[in-house]
Amino acid sequence: MILKSKLSKTAYPIADPDKWVTGDKADIDPVVLGRIAYLGKVHGTVIVITQGGGFRSFEEQTRMYNLYKAGKLQATAAKPGTSRHESGLALDSSTPIYRNMTSKELMKYGLHKPIKNEPWHGEPVETAGKSLTAIKNQLAPEDLTSQMKKKFGLSGVTTDYIAAYKYAEDLAAGLLAGRKDFAAETMKYLYSYKYWESLREKLGL
Ligand SMILES: [Zn+2]
Repeated sequence: MILKSKLSKTAYPIADPDKWVTGDKADIDPVVLGRIAYLGKVHGTVIVITQGGGFRSFEEQTRMYNLYKAGKLQATAAKPGTSRHESGLALDSSTPIYRNMTSKELMKYGLHKPIKNEPWHGEPVETAGKSLTAIKNQLAPEDLTSQMKKKFGLSGVTTDYIAAYKYAEDLAAGLLAGRKDFAAETMKYLYSYKYWESLREKLGL
């Protein structure tokens, strides 16, 4: 997915998640990933997101919940619709440098641990004191992939191609806003797409 974060990119330092975060990090809010990446960079440690400890769609949460109900899951799982991981803002990691930090220590990185007895579960500080409904409505990242599919009639193959671009978020946000004046580097990336001719037509470029 191409995600547009609603969190401040400048309130806390950010590092490159491609370098400092690994594991189940797909579709976690890009600013949250940037903040945890910075924590990793400061300590010279790659942060590993636990399998199943990143973003969970409603369907994924349902699958986990059913496994839990059937006694096939070691951990507990929240009812679909009620997991903080469905917001795309939560992450679980057992990388020691992170896991051993208190919620207070984590705050200087723009993160905190809102759940007592879950030292692996982290979220951006902006979620503090907010209900899950408020978090989902006000803070969860925007899904630009769905918007691109809807507005331009793009296929999953095409949105996956765009999502792989380094500046995918800016590109998608620009296209959705009707921009046509992209940098040469960005245009070069689009030209190199196998189905560029059909994409150009759809985007009106
Ligand atoms: Zn968690």
